[in-house]
Amino acid sequence: MAPHGGRLVDRRLEPEEAAELVRGAPSLTLSPAEAADLRALATGAYSPLTGFMTSADHEACTQTMRLANGLLWPIPVCLGVPDGVNIRGDRLALRDGHGNPLGVLEVHEVYKRDRLGESERVFGTSDPAHPGAARVLGAPALAVAGPVRAVLQPLDGLAGRHALTPAETRALFASRGWRTIVGFQTRNPIHRAHEYLQKCALELYDGLLLHPLVGPTKDGDVPVEVRMRAYQAALRYFPPDRVLLATLVAPMRYAGPREALLHALVRKNHGCTHFIVGRDQAGVGTYYGPFDAQRLIASLPPQELGITPLLFDKVFHCAACGGMASAKTCPHPDSERIALSGTMVRAMLRAGEPVLPGFVRPEVATVLQRAYRHSNGDGQVLRQPAGDAKPTSVQATPAGFVVWFTGLSGAGKSTVATALATRLRERGHRLEVLDGDEVRTSLSEGLGFSREDRDTNIARIGYVAAKLAQHGVAVLVAAISPYREARDRVRGSVDHFVEVHVATSFATCAERDVKGLYGRALAGQITQFTGVSDPYESPLAPEVVLDTDREPVDASVEQVVACLERLGLTTAATPDRTPAR
Ligand SMILES: [Zn+2]
Repeated sequence: MAPHGGRLVDRRLEPEEAAELVRGAPSLTLSPAEAADLRALATGAYSPLTGFMTSADHEACTQTMRLANGLLWPIPVCLGVPDGVNIRGDRLALRDGHGNPLGVLEVHEVYKRDRLGESERVFGTSDPAHPGAARVLGAPALAVAGPVRAVLQPLDGLAGRHALTPAETRALFASRGWRTIVGFQTRNPIHRAHEYLQKCALELYDGLLLHPLVGPTKDGDVPVEVRMRAYQAALRYFPPDRVLLATLVAPMRYAGPREALLHALVRKNHGCTHFIVGRDQAGVGTYYGPFDAQRLIASLPPQELGITPLLFDKVFHCAACGGMASAKTCPHPDSERIALSGTMVRAMLRAGEPVLPGFVRPEVATVLQRAYRHSNGDGQVLRQPAGDAKPTSVQATPAGFVVWFTGLSGAGKSTVATALATRLRERGHRLEVLDGDEVRTSLSEGLGFSREDRDTNIARIGYVAAKLAQHGVAVLVAAISPYREARDRVRGSVDHFVEVHVATSFATCAERDVKGLYGRALAGQITQFTGVSDPYESPLAPEVVLDTDREPVDASVEQVVACLERLGLTTAATPDRTPAR
């Protein structure tokens, strides 16, 4: 599938080259949205654009949804010149708000940008309540145009690790042998209606590019790291070899139909052959009709579009059908149908109501509920949950945290915890290991193995762990802890809780039978034995899952350390303190 305009643009720059190019050049500070656009330009996501738009392209794009050369392009990509900044010379150093170099622009033109006209044509409104219009109306009156080259700075977190360039997604599609690829744009967590659309497409085509946009969005949208966790959770319901999760770093404009078109072209550049266009795609509030985006895209000549839109009707849950359906597939009256929207899901989460599995997969709901529990009450502005905090640099006093190993007896919880303890001690953490077996002889002497006693045991371990963590201790707990609710209660009482599911299979545990317990349990000599005569409830969204069936202890430890580093709870650099013994 050829990129838009026929050639994939690549305007990336090595940091050393950038330093050389910008030497002596005046600087321009980019807004976060402009910086995200710069990145999309440099990677070729915006092919054929090679830089910020000239007045001719801006005029043509605003009026006709085409570039001056006639190629389809629905939304201006402009770089503002803040008041008081004089553009001198033929080259500009582009920097972020902290002064870090982002790239370089070859100055071709400085022009007055018709912001009101652009807003009215592109967004259909100049209402400052529209987040996209507000950004354009609030932009500087002058714009500077010209080709850019940019350094791709590494990005934080899960979103950063999944940020792929169009060349990279194309290479991955080829290596997987996919010939037909469906792109799915989203800026929200995935609920069952999305999953239905994606799976309808996967019935027909080779692969799905789940391509969340992770650039600047509006307040009230779910934070990126929470969304990423939710996508990972949702993907447990897809065959892993048929879906690629990648992130698109670009600002959201909320321009409805025009933005849906832009999103289609960007996915074409990433190598998609098909693109899902749902109801009210890229819209906000009530500015656009639910099918305006589909109408616009369907009206364009297919050879100019170069990617096949998959236009889906409104999807709902039908009680009579017993699943997701649309008016195209379900004959039942409205009374049987429940429309499913992100807004509705968010409302349920805000109210602390359980989200029905028919609406959102329980794994996804767990990730979101956890985030909402950390929100500020009205749930509108979500703080990153502790577990998703940005990695910090070396801390003078390392934060305490609890790593909770859960899994069947003999799964290897204590083994991994002990090895992890050694690693963390080397890094200077004060450390405590609470082993379920040992705790039972002291803290929980006399408790049996009924659900009630097991819950009491976990509550006691949780209490001690929370106290220690409060005082900066890294606490490693190894306990079967078979009940989800009990574990989640401990999570709720600890600032930094990392759940590690030691997911060794029952067969392997029984075969190893380190303590000879499985044999006796299977022979009926021990009752209430987890996995044999008592249930084990796997975590729905653990921070780490270890496969000790297949990986050695070292690899397991490495995984947990990587997670702790990602969460900013430990760093490779040893904290400035005498290692505790
Ligand atoms: Zn029905």
